[in-house]
Amino acid sequence: MATDNMQLEITKIDQSRINSVDWDNLPFGKVFSDHMLIMDYKDGAWQKPSIEPFENLSLTPATSVLHYGQTIFEGMKAYKNKEGEVFLFRPKQNAKRFNQSATRMCMPEIPEDVFVDFIKTLVDIDRMWIPEKEGYSMYIRPFMIATDPYVGIRPSSTYKFMIFTCPVGSYYTEPVRVKIETEYTRAAHGGTGAAKAGGNYAASLYPAKLAQEQGYQQLIWTDAQEHKYIEEAGTMNVVFQIGNRIITPKSSDTILDGVTRKSVIEIARDWGYEIEERKVTVEEIITAIKNNELVDAFGAGTAATIAPIQTINFEGVDYELPEVSSRDFSNKVLEYLNLYKHGKTEDKFNWIVKF
Ligand SMILES: *Cc1c(COP(=O)(O)O)cnc(C)c1O
Repeated sequence: MATDNMQLEITKIDQSRINSVDWDNLPFGKVFSDHMLIMDYKDGAWQKPSIEPFENLSLTPATSVLHYGQTIFEGMKAYKNKEGEVFLFRPKQNAKRFNQSATRMCMPEIPEDVFVDFIKTLVDIDRMWIPEKEGYSMYIRPFMIATDPYVGIRPSSTYKFMIFTCPVGSYYTEPVRVKIETEYTRAAHGGTGAAKAGGNYAASLYPAKLAQEQGYQQLIWTDAQEHKYIEEAGTMNVVFQIGNRIITPKSSDTILDGVTRKSVIEIARDWGYEIEERKVTVEEIITAIKNNELVDAFGAGTAATIAPIQTINFEGVDYELPEVSSRDFSNKVLEYLNLYKHGKTEDKFNWIVKF
C-alpha cells in the first residue's frame, strides 16, 4: 500500500460539540471528540481514508464481526502542555502491536507510518479537545472490524478501520485489591492472549464479576495449564519488586506485550535496578510477602499508567502489601512517566512524537 495514495479526505463538523462538555466531570470513555477516521478494506486493498464528524455506523445485522468477533483494537493517549503542544507516547509501538493483532486474527495490516500519521492528523484536528489540566489527556481508540455481510465462519474479505478519541480526566486509582485467579483462564498457549482482540475481554467479564462480588477490583491471571505462574491483570501487566530486583512475567503468547510495562522496565534498567523478565510463580510472590521482602507491586497500562496493588488474595487468604507511600520505585516511575508524557523532561529514550 503506497502512502501517497493515502490522501485523507477531511470533512469537518459544522458545529463543534465541545461547549457541551462538562470538563470537571469526564467519565472515562463516554465523551467523544468531534471527528473520527474511517478507512475501508475491500478487493484486497485499503480504500481512500477519510476524517468525518463522529457519528453512528450503519451495519447490516449479518455483519460478521457481530457474530464471530473478528475485531482488534489499540489504546493510547495524547497529552498537551501549557503551551498547547501535543505529545504522543511511543505511537509506533501501538502501530506495530496493532499489526501483530491483525495477523493473528487474519486481518489486513496497516503500514506503521500510515497508522501513526492517521493518529497525528485526527488528534491535530481535534486538538482543542485535549484537556491541558494536570493528569488529563485524550484517549485514542483505533480499531478494526470484519464487515462482510455473511453468516459463516471464515475470515472476512472486507474490513472497517476506524479511530475515535475521548478526552479523559485524571485516572487516579486507589490502591487496588486483586485476586489471583486459579479457576478461570484468560489465555492459553496457542490462543489469542497476545492480541488485543475483542473476544479476550468478553471472556474475562464473568470471572472478573465474580471477583468483584468478593470485593476485588481486578484479577491476576495465572497460566492456563497449572495456574502456577502469574501472567497479568485484565488490561494491565504486573510488576513486582523484591529487594532491589524488579520482577515481571516475560511477554509470551499468553501475555499482552504492554508499552507501559516495557517502558517501566527500560527506565528501571536505566536507573540501575536489576531486572528479571521471566516466569514468576505465585508461590514466590506469596513467600516474599510472608517474609516482608515484597516492597512493591503494581499494574502497568496506558489507562492508569501505574496502579498500585494493596491486597493480594490467594486461595481465600488476603495478603497485605506495604503502604503505597513507602514505595520508592513505583512512585518515582509514575512521576517520571507523567513528566515524560507531557514533554516536561528530556526525551532521553526518544519516545515522544510532538506536534
Ligand atoms: C492493553 C493491555 C495491556 C497494557 O498495555 P499498554 O500498552 O501498556 O497499555 C496489558 N494487558 C492487556 C490484556 C491489555 O489489553
